[in-house]
Amino acid sequence: MDIVGGLAAASKALEIIKQLRDVDKTFNAAAQKAKLAEAMEAASTAKITLLEAQGEIRERDEEIAKLKASFAVRENLVEVDGYKYRKDAETGAPRGKAFCSACEIDGHLVQVAASIRNFSTCPKCKANYSNLNDFR
Ligand SMILES: [Zn+2]
Repeated sequence: MDIVGGLAAASKALEIIKQLRDVDKTFNAAAQKAKLAEAMEAASTAKITLLEAQGEIRERDEEIAKLKASFAVRENLVEVDGYKYRKDAETGAPRGKAFCSACEIDGHLVQVAASIRNFSTCPKCKANYSNLNDFR
């Protein structure tokens, strides 16, 4: 993100425009046109640079919103034997099946699928787990 570069280009454009305003009448038309072109180029650079910075700020805001949502979800989890479970809002006790610890490392919360003979499988990454709790 180059906000400093964008602001410098905007300052340069303003400086050139000020020079054009303050110039005396002996300044010829060709020189004025050249200065005006220079000012327009600097203003264009400022606009492009600041638009890029705006896009980066927007992406960052979206990432922050995702992280806030993720933290809000994680506050409602409880850990048992190294695995995360939903926390009962009233009692604080674990509820339901565990979340896949392999997917959690990647930032996803995926509950393991129904267990067969004490084996559970993650529907997303297909990791297998044995002897997980299922809190009812
Ligand atoms: Zn998984």
